[in-house]
Amino acid sequence: MTVREGSLEAPIRHPIDWKNPAYYDEAACEAELERVFDICHGCRRCVSLCNSFPLLFDLIDEGPTGEVDGVDKADFHKVVDQCYLCDVCYMTKCPYVPPHPWNLDFPHLMLQHKAIEFKKGIPTAFRDKTLSDTARNGKLAAIPVVAQTVNALAKVAPARALGEKLLGVHKTAWLPQYTSQPFESHHAESHKHAVKDGQRTPGKVAIYTTCYVNWNEPGIGHDLIKVLEHNAIPFVVVEKQACCGMPKLELGDLESVEGLVKQTIPGLAKLAKAGYAIVTPIPSCTLMFKQEIPLMFPGDEDIAAVQKAMFDPFEYFVARDKDGLLKTDFKQPLGNVSYHVACHLRVQNVGQKTREMLQKVPETAVNTVERCSGHAGTWGVKKEFHEMSLKIGKPMFRQMNEHPNGTVDYIASDCQLAGHHIAQGIDAGVANGPTDDKVQHPLSLLARAYGL
Ligand code: SF4
Ligand code: SF4
Repeated sequence: MTVREGSLEAPIRHPIDWKNPAYYDEAACEAELERVFDICHGCRRCVSLCNSFPLLFDLIDEGPTGEVDGVDKADFHKVVDQCYLCDVCYMTKCPYVPPHPWNLDFPHLMLQHKAIEFKKGIPTAFRDKTLSDTARNGKLAAIPVVAQTVNALAKVAPARALGEKLLGVHKTAWLPQYTSQPFESHHAESHKHAVKDGQRTPGKVAIYTTCYVNWNEPGIGHDLIKVLEHNAIPFVVVEKQACCGMPKLELGDLESVEGLVKQTIPGLAKLAKAGYAIVTPIPSCTLMFKQEIPLMFPGDEDIAAVQKAMFDPFEYFVARDKDGLLKTDFKQPLGNVSYHVACHLRVQNVGQKTREMLQKVPETAVNTVERCSGHAGTWGVKKEFHEMSLKIGKPMFRQMNEHPNGTVDYIASDCQLAGHHIAQGIDAGVANGPTDDKVQHPLSLLARAYGL
């Protein structure tokens, strides 16, 4: 049979069949890895995306046959370990995704292998569990003296060296600071604005804060509230939030994802059904609710309602503007902004809404960079991957630091972790270096542009 190059139909994504015992069949997964690796070997489009592909191609090229059959199957996991599930290969490069008969879903095959390995027990389980328990870490660190101590230790070299040895967290990776004033207990309440639904946007917003904004940088959430207030959009903050589950998904710990889904979805579904737009200021969390959770639980009505109500903040603001319901009375120019489109936003297929909005601010020039920063959630802080994460990001660090209009005033990424990682890369691997002062989340830039 002749198989045509690429598919003419829109890509589709199969549900993740993780409840089926066959999902954990190691031999079947290995056979599928071999099939997919062989297609990738003949294609090689993704060679520059991350380290999974160059590593795979090296294993093939340096093997005795120069084909996939010459690769030791025990080495397959090395390719999987380098994948941080950014989804970019699937969403932006691969012509063989379903409905193409080759039916290739590289990231979800990596996920399946991770899930099998996770069930068997992985050697880095303690470190990985510690890093991925984002809400528990935040709650612990929010105790005032603990927050100060943790934050101070994160900047002390001997403590970091010990952390690397005991926990496997790279000693020079940028680490977030914790707050003793989490967003969920320190945010302003909404004024009683009238709800004005637009053609494209619900007129009231529920803020799903995310662990990072709640425990690490609540200022991003406060800035989101300022922008909503300025535009007379009434809001609520989602109560009793739990993690979206992305850090657990990245480990292949699918049962923990289910545990979190049971905590988050009932409250979010109520808000979705009550007509709220659910706005989530970190793209990985938005993507969980828009894509991964619905694929893990197909047919679940509550999850489908949440998926439909979920917005990236700038997706919401641009649509609100098209509805004629957003103010554009900007008071402060932003100057030269180097803006990174985070991978987990890119794959949401909503277009470059952040760039679109920031470009409306007068005397603002946005230099847009659409390449992986290499940070990828907790992956880039791990001892064994941090150097690679800086290597992956190197070409884009240069692009972010070279604004066509001259000196960069702001470094902005929808993913604030990536923003700090980019600053570290620009400062040649130095965490909290001078460029870190220029890092501003796009929501904070929007609030600043309004003069709020
Ligand atoms: S999902 Fe991202 S990290 Fe994983 S193989 Fe594809 S491009 Fe690489
Ligand atoms: S994932 Fe698709 S586009 Fe990328 S190398 Fe493999 S076959 Fe080619």
